[in-house]
Amino acid sequence: MAAMKVKITQWVTKKMQDDHIDSEEMSLKNVFHYFKLDGFCDEPEIFLVATSYGIEWGYNTFIWESPSIPLPTKKFTRKLPWKDLQSMTEDEKKEKIIDETAKAVASKKREYRKCRYCNRKMHANEFYDKNTCLACAEKHLGIYIVY
Ligand SMILES: [Zn+2]
Repeated sequence: MAAMKVKITQWVTKKMQDDHIDSEEMSLKNVFHYFKLDGFCDEPEIFLVATSYGIEWGYNTFIWESPSIPLPTKKFTRKLPWKDLQSMTEDEKKEKIIDETAKAVASKKREYRKCRYCNRKMHANEFYDKNTCLACAEKHLGIYIVY
């Protein structure tokens, strides 16, 4: 986590300097800023966005309206109202935004788990059951999967 924390700190610092994401007055609203989890599994991204409410965190995903049509959607996992930031010093704001970003990263990471057969760590969507990935379910359990 140490390396990830350093990256998050650098990223948040830059977003505060360049995009004023910590400022209700100066931030551009509804512009999604993406942070990639470099080196982690398939390197998913989370986002941070300034809205009329405050700063919000989440990630892009799909909802399946019907079995064959995935609709892109955004899942929000955390939020921080502007009023909470107003009373903070610059350092406190930065610390809080870094902390919330780290939590959003951690909750994304929790969607990943390891397959008991191939030992690869993958997103939960790629699993047949709790600890068997789809490929290994076909290979080891003889289950035929229609994609
Ligand atoms: Zn597997």
